[in-house]
Amino acid sequence: MLGAPGSGKGTQAELLAERLGIPAISTGEMLRAAVAAGSELGRRVEGVMASGDLVSDELIAEVVDARLAVPDAQGGFLLDGYPRTSPQADALDRILAKRETQLDHVIHLEVPQEELIGRALARQRADDEEDVVRERLRVYHEKTAPLIDRYADAGLLRRVDGHRSIDAIMKDLARLFGAA
Ligand code: AMP
Repeated sequence: MLGAPGSGKGTQAELLAERLGIPAISTGEMLRAAVAAGSELGRRVEGVMASGDLVSDELIAEVVDARLAVPDAQGGFLLDGYPRTSPQADALDRILAKRETQLDHVIHLEVPQEELIGRALARQRADDEEDVVRERLRVYHEKTAPLIDRYADAGLLRRVDGHRSIDAIMKDLARLFGAA
């Protein structure tokens, strides 16, 4: 699930995963949980997350690789917020090849830029102060947006209009997976 910060991808990922009976694997949630738990991983990523930047590609690959080894992910999974850079997409290709599996769909939840800033500010999390929100959007456009073309070229990209009600979006997503 690809989408800018504030696109609603986390909400849709959870609903869709529930519908499909597979885990929604959100790297952002996993990192926030690590920070909250005060684990070694949490201490390593805390500062970078607070600044709105991305944690290192190597670290996130380890987190995802370990998560995909958990039994609940063996029948399928939905990745939310990963990959987020071209090196992460390369790493994901390797991780999936090792597991002899592949992506079925890459969903791009599309939301206009002005709507994104308003939504992200309204969320009012600690990391959602306005300059951090803008930094997260800048990082998204610089590092993550190029993945849209990559997955379009691979024939995997499904564009979904994210500027609608949660229910309307969910209906489209469910139809895409034959779960409507
Ligand atoms: P999210 O909730 O997906 O917006 O993620 C919150 C924060 O966690 C991001 O701003 C990054 O600092 C970090 N993060 C989450 N996923 C990734 C990823 N795939 N690569 C690097 N950093 C990530």
